Amino acid sequence: MMAKDDRFRITFLGATRTVTGSMHRLDVRQHGFLIDCGMFQGRRHESMHRNRNLPLKAVQADALLLTHAHIDHCGNIPTLVKRGFVGNVHCTSATADLCGAMLKDSARLQLADARWLNEKYADDPNWEPIEPLYDEDDVKRAMERFIPHDYEEVFELSPVAHAHFIDAGHVLGSASAIIDVKLNGHRRRVAFSGDIGRRNMPILRDPIPPQNPDYVVMETTYGNRMHAPSELMQDQLYDVIKTALSRGGKIIIPSFALERTQEIVFALNQLRKAKRLAAIPVYVDSPLAHNLTQVFRRHGECFDSETIAFDDEHGDPFGFDMLTFVNSVDESKQLNEKPGPMIIISASGMCEGGRIVHHLRNSIEDDKNTIVIVGYQAQHTLGRRIVERHPRVRIFGVDRDLFAQVRVLNAFSAHADRDELLWWTDACGSQVRQHFLVHGDEDQSQAFQGHLEQRHKRAVVPRENEVIDLVY
Ligand SMILES: [Zn+2]
Repeated sequence: MMAKDDRFRITFLGATRTVTGSMHRLDVRQHGFLIDCGMFQGRRHESMHRNRNLPLKAVQADALLLTHAHIDHCGNIPTLVKRGFVGNVHCTSATADLCGAMLKDSARLQLADARWLNEKYADDPNWEPIEPLYDEDDVKRAMERFIPHDYEEVFELSPVAHAHFIDAGHVLGSASAIIDVKLNGHRRRVAFSGDIGRRNMPILRDPIPPQNPDYVVMETTYGNRMHAPSELMQDQLYDVIKTALSRGGKIIIPSFALERTQEIVFALNQLRKAKRLAAIPVYVDSPLAHNLTQVFRRHGECFDSETIAFDDEHGDPFGFDMLTFVNSVDESKQLNEKPGPMIIISASGMCEGGRIVHHLRNSIEDDKNTIVIVGYQAQHTLGRRIVERHPRVRIFGVDRDLFAQVRVLNAFSAHADRDELLWWTDACGSQVRQHFLVHGDEDQSQAFQGHLEQRHKRAVVPRENEVIDLVY
């Protein structure tokens, strides 16, 4: 029986057999460290219940290590602080800055959501009005706990545990969290992958696999799928735009505000500088994307050599003569009246809310226009119905004919595919005792477990709330 003082264990609190709500806890002796505190995004009732009722094991952790600024990894930190978490939130400096904007936007959405539901059910005698999950003040209090670090900078978590971040190449500032533990004379390394990016992605450096970890907790979003090579991103975009422009209409690109928007803007900038893109107006219609782009400009230390070289030669990778960031609602509405050709990049990425829905409503019934899909579209979203080319789609409660062209670009992904994940695990070295496969739908994680076992590597797919003792 292990003495209480010699605890060395992982508890899987979220993102087990699913891709949302990332949260794990590592216990080393009497200290507990949380890795990520993501928002659970799924069916409304389940999401509401899970996000509001954070487990004590999360709230009472001594510190939080945050891998990156996506909401399914950081989105519930304000709730954590609201419920009484008093530790520090460690992350890279770019992640801290991005989180400031992402969490503020999330607070705005929580408020809008609560208002909408309370109005919708105002006449229902059984409806108990709900409060937003958190507000901007909660975000401010949460941000005060953030401690920014450089990549590779070692910091102390407890007398026997130290940590550092390495580049995960997934979004700006993204990291794998490495925790080094010294217990009873043994040194052990536990690596939490965070989300793993792809090699040769624009803007970002390639992911760096952890060196000689003993235990690996890793994502498996695409544990059994392959993407088109990321080098094709710019060419795919160019081909689609060239064809779309020949029709003379508008090009509507629903895009995630973080990373995908900056990738597309940078690709268009490169095409423009290479004189391949004609002088047509490009609008980024998303205040959040604008704020995040400003964070990108401040964090050139995260760029790859290609982006640095571009910056040296041409200046700002995220600005060019035909590009306008649209902030006010009035300016956004004015775009409806303007004739094409033009390119509009707008959030949200799955067409479920935000300004993109207005642009789709105004463009979808004209066959001169083109809708360009550059990101994953979950089931039951407007984006998915467009990808599947339903002849009629419902927008703001009205059925509309889908006459616009629809083009799907498959080279855009911020997640490693199966072979890239296998490359990453091979590069970790041979001393890994166990891989814990998380952040994947069950079929993806289990298929990847099979791929690792074929390579004589040990792997398990943990269940939610499973506690696993590690051997030191
Ligand atoms: Zn992510």
